[in-house]
Amino acid sequence: MNDQNKEKNSDCTHMNRCQMYGLFELDDSVEVWKILYCRGTYTRCERYKMAERGLRVLPNLLPNGQTIEV
Ligand code: SF4
Repeated sequence: MNDQNKEKNSDCTHMNRCQMYGLFELDDSVEVWKILYCRGTYTRCERYKMAERGLRVLPNLLPNGQTIEV
């Protein structure tokens, strides 16, 4: 199994401190974000990428790079 396949079924390493993940946990209707990113290929998540680069992550930034009203 290569590294990319291993990541597909891994939990995001930022879950415990990610504000957006906290919101996802409160609302079952947004389960798809968790499946696609938080418990899926989290390295594609814009929040994850910014945090890994040491950049400030906006609280309303979605994994796909769009923002929402909070
Ligand atoms: S939203 Fe992104 S950074 Fe936050 S837990 Fe999910 S994959 Fe990780």
